[in-house]
Amino acid sequence: MSAVLEVLPSAVTANVARVRAGTRSTIMAVVKADGYGHGAVTVAKAAVAAGAGWLGTTSVGEASALRAAGLAVPILAWLHPSGIDAEAAAEAEVDVAVGSVDELGALLAQAGPMVRVHLHVDTGMSRGGCPRGRWKDLIGLALRGQRARKVRVVGVMGHLPLADRADPEANAPAVARMCEARQAVRAAGLGRPLAHLAATSATLTDPATHFDMVRIGAGLVGIDPSETVRMRGASRLTAPVVHTTAVEAGTPVGYGGAYVTDRATHLSVLPVGYADGIPRECSRQAGVEIRGRRFPIAGRVSMDQIVIDTGAECFPAGTPATVFGPDGGAVPAVQDWARWAGTIPHTIVTGIGPRVRRGIA
Ligand SMILES: *Cc1c(COP(=O)(O)O)cnc(C)c1O
Repeated sequence: MSAVLEVLPSAVTANVARVRAGTRSTIMAVVKADGYGHGAVTVAKAAVAAGAGWLGTTSVGEASALRAAGLAVPILAWLHPSGIDAEAAAEAEVDVAVGSVDELGALLAQAGPMVRVHLHVDTGMSRGGCPRGRWKDLIGLALRGQRARKVRVVGVMGHLPLADRADPEANAPAVARMCEARQAVRAAGLGRPLAHLAATSATLTDPATHFDMVRIGAGLVGIDPSETVRMRGASRLTAPVVHTTAVEAGTPVGYGGAYVTDRATHLSVLPVGYADGIPRECSRQAGVEIRGRRFPIAGRVSMDQIVIDTGAECFPAGTPATVFGPDGGAVPAVQDWARWAGTIPHTIVTGIGPRVRRGIA
């Protein structure tokens, strides 16, 4: 008996449909961090079947794994901490983002084959992307590289710093910068590459950010970072009761005796703990669903287990509990866990540990 994370491709399908209903731009399905913990290949396949025209990853290695799984749409990889390997990128037919003059220079210095690049410009994030003062140099170098058939510029990308706000006014400076970058690229004679800026939140809340393509990650798995649109959760974490005891009022539970029963009750143990991604920092409201009702976690989350206070109910070993899922009612959502733990839903879904068995619904 063990915990299972069941991934729901039909939810990804519904979420892509929801995004498509609000934009005419091409959709890039971002499946970094193993598809936000849901399985990159599973999420990518569902998203592409639902109409996503591109895939996005952080590394060329992740992109190669998608190719190996048979995904044929264009893929962009944008983080290259140890430099871009032109050979590997061309081999896997992966586009790469270049975010600085140095990075592009190092790419052009390689003897490798021609690589498709997206010029990554800083639109206000100050994290990655070429700062505005160097755009001219980056574009000039890209033009020389393109003439020498070392690179082909197929995209211009920015990233929005306010990725969790529904605030078109706050996005406006980044949109203006993106327009400026696109114009500079066109004016330099690099044609009309795809411009892309928005991630999930802006895609759902600010059409001015859409440009030619939108990059959707969180939204695929049911998370709208701006919390304005209800998307469908794409996974369900369940765990079976492994044993149940009846205890008297006044019984301390778990490490430090942080929880003391206030009545005679039953305690059920579930085989998931913080090593499996259950946040240890969760508040007293945290609970799980068993047989259609919500029951609270009693005491501290241990490395491998949690204890549930089930009151008068005595659940036999093997009774399934739902830790989170898209079902509503007594079943907590990933967003509930994020609230209980004082974090964002992304950290819950990407934090589910390797011991949890994966299944596909
Ligand atoms: C992660 C990421 C995205 C997707 O963001 P979501 O808010 O998860 O949709 C888009 N673009 C870049 C550059 C990213 O790193």
